[in-house]
Amino acid sequence: ATMPPLLSTIANAGRHGVLVKSAVALEKFGTTDLVAFDKTGTLTQGTPRVSEIEPVPAAGMSLERVTSYAAAAERPSEHPLARALVAAAHERDLPVPHSEDFTSTPGRGVTATVEGARVRVGSPALLDELDDTSAEHVAQARALVSDLEEAGRTAVVVIVDALPVGVLALADQLRPGAREAVAKLTAMTGRSPVLLTGDNERAARRLAEEVGISDVRAALLPDGKVTEVRRLQEQGHRVLFVGDGVNDAPAMAAAELGVAMGRHGSDLALETADAVIVRDELATLPKVIGMSWRAHRVVK
Ligand code: ADP
Ligand code: MG
Repeated sequence: ATMPPLLSTIANAGRHGVLVKSAVALEKFGTTDLVAFDKTGTLTQGTPRVSEIEPVPAAGMSLERVTSYAAAAERPSEHPLARALVAAAHERDLPVPHSEDFTSTPGRGVTATVEGARVRVGSPALLDELDDTSAEHVAQARALVSDLEEAGRTAVVVIVDALPVGVLALADQLRPGAREAVAKLTAMTGRSPVLLTGDNERAARRLAEEVGISDVRAALLPDGKVTEVRRLQEQGHRVLFVGDGVNDAPAMAAAELGVAMGRHGSDLALETADAVIVRDELATLPKVIGMSWRAHRVVK
């Protein structure tokens, strides 16, 4: 193909809200035969809300204090779950104490010092790292997690000085247009998209069912998403991966084509991506695939 039509297609994609960074990226939209989606912030709105707060009985900490600790540790984080935990404290007029020494582990959670205590907030997998001295707390926390996940929630545990003190549940909503986009992409690529998520299996399956996806790979760390992308590639697929988080950047780089959500996307995701969905509208994805087909005169 000559350059001018490609450039005009890139400009046209831009008008439709997709920033395609190169002519090669534009071409890859047209040759993709499988779309893989991240869940939180991509297929969901990424503005989850805290729906339940459950103190671990053995710890004897008040619901208010559990919430304050969680919010304090999460305040520096940009993760959608972190923002929801901080909002939960604000809504209840609870203090959010100052925190120090913040660190975050993508796909796992955060750690910070709050009022002299070491506070960890994150995935229930954090419970696996605690030793026997906290066995009773851990057992109670696991039971709470299990009940909440059964209800389709995303559960987050709060651990203070190596003791689980509470479990918070979060509920997110399907992004408007996600269902329609998945149906169109299925028709265009000839295969139903895949869901790759760090969230728990039950919450992931529930969302997948709502959106029309049957292939769900859950509880993945950032490297796990890369492994799944590679596995699909080994099966001969040319994978387009769509995500929003720092945790999605490695999978975006591994895929033939990495696409980032513009509004909710982390800086790293936006940089790594080959294309950006500027206003987070998933309906633009099948549109750009169609534009690429036409620009390259691919007959389907
Ligand atoms: P997804 O792949 O669906 O976008 P992430 O990989 O961002 O999800 O997160 C996966 C899991 O890691 C979350 O469900 C949560 O348990 C945990 N997690 C990651 N970051 C945080 C955080 N800042 N606060 C609490 N939990 C977190
Ligand atoms: Mg995400």
